[in-house]
Amino acid sequence: MQDNVDVVVIGAGVIGCAVALELAREGRQVLVIDRHAGPGLGSTSASSAIVRYHYDHLDEAVLAWEAGRRWMDWPRYLGTVDPQGMAEFVRCGALVLDGALMDREAPLAHLRTLGIAVEELTAEEVASRFPAIDPSRLGPPTRTDDEQFWAEPTGTIGAFWTPDAGYVSDPQLAAANLAHAAASVGVEFRFATEVRGVGRDDGRVCSLSIATSDGRTTEIHPRTVVNAAGPWSSALNRMAEVLDDFNTSTRPLMQEVISLPAPQGFGIDDGGTSVTDPDFATYFRAHGAHTLLVGGMEPPCDPLVHLDSPDDAVEQVSAETWELQSLRLARRMPSATIPSQPRGIVGVYDVTEDWIPIYDRTSLDGWFVAIGTSGHGFKQAPFVGELIAALVQAVEAGHDHDADPIEVPASWTGNTVRMAHFSRRRHVVPQYGMG
Ligand SMILES: Cc1cc2nc3c(=O)[nH]c(=O)nc-3n(C[C@H](O)[C@H](O)[C@H](O)COP(=O)(O)OP(=O)(O)OC[C@H]3O[C@@H](n4cnc5c(N)ncnc54)[C@H](O)[C@@H]3O)c2cc1C
Repeated sequence: MQDNVDVVVIGAGVIGCAVALELAREGRQVLVIDRHAGPGLGSTSASSAIVRYHYDHLDEAVLAWEAGRRWMDWPRYLGTVDPQGMAEFVRCGALVLDGALMDREAPLAHLRTLGIAVEELTAEEVASRFPAIDPSRLGPPTRTDDEQFWAEPTGTIGAFWTPDAGYVSDPQLAAANLAHAAASVGVEFRFATEVRGVGRDDGRVCSLSIATSDGRTTEIHPRTVVNAAGPWSSALNRMAEVLDDFNTSTRPLMQEVISLPAPQGFGIDDGGTSVTDPDFATYFRAHGAHTLLVGGMEPPCDPLVHLDSPDDAVEQVSAETWELQSLRLARRMPSATIPSQPRGIVGVYDVTEDWIPIYDRTSLDGWFVAIGTSGHGFKQAPFVGELIAALVQAVEAGHDHDADPIEVPASWTGNTVRMAHFSRRRHVVPQYGMG
């Protein structure tokens, strides 16, 4: 069977669905292919879905802020209401403690440049506004078998606070909402279908070999392909043979996020917020009235668990991670109670060496990438769609994006994103973790 299509987006995660929506809004005929049975069932489903705007780099702060405004006004951005329900933006703010894993200077400067509300807090102010949090200096972070882990605090720490940050109530539903909006402007979805091969002809992508779950294989002939395959992206880039001029790899990195009962005074309607703790290497946020999600900031003492394939991730949170993260959290929140049974979720990041995503064209004409989201791409999705749509349009109109990277207006906030920042050929400064 032969099948000519205009654009194929590989991946119906939050990124692929947003890309498909915006390409269709530009008048393209879009087919989304995903090996899972529905939208948002890949790494998106495990996301902590925190929407924060503090970044070391201005372009990422611009992107997050622009996307954040769209999360805040989700039905207006989508232009549809999904009958299966709408994901909600929960404005709980973000508290960023001081700590060795993060320097507050650059993020603060960017927040101020962009006019995003931010307040600097002393340790006393942190303690009085968030009584469940102990603003003692506990770091640098160590493992529990290191006696330093239990050492007395060496002082106190301040913080900064952005009240307009928050989280999205259900990341998988958010992807489904995007898919619904995309379908309403003509996007076709094929689920339980996997891309297994990429054909090239004279420097341009010319075919995809796709297999359905019942074992049938078909070749389709897209003009344009966007690789939005999350942590599976590198396998597809290898099939397309496009990695020759990438300055960074993308690799699947396993992540475990534990969940605990929310301590008194830290439920979402009861003073709870989202916290980045670069002093003791966790991030945590209230999730609804009774739960706290706790993830890691990859301090140098924690080994990174890179996988050959995201499919190799373990299914359940390990006892070791449970103990480490719950005890780190308990030192920061002494009133937290730790149940005996580990609870949480295992997910996979698609990480680059500098933890900056790649939103770019490639050396293969017609093959674009929205990949390497490195554990913080969920929040960006509603604007990444527009970035990729603008990029595809410019490149296919003959613009040399490699020589003269495009800049995309961020229309809801009046800023501009310089796409050079997300280039596969950028100068890469390797970083161990996100912190
Ligand atoms: C534990 C965890 C916590 C996170 N917390 C946050 C957070 O708080 N804030 C934030 O902003 N970001 C966060 N992130 C990051 C964010 O969730 C991701 O950046 C984002 O969800 C990636 O979306 P995606 O669409 O690129 O990938 P995915 O959701 O993984 O989608 C890719 C899709 O591609 C499909 N696919 C892959 N290969 C093929 C193929 N060959 N053929 C067909 N289909 C294919 C897969 O089935 C999958 O559905 C977190 C991530 C994890 C794992």
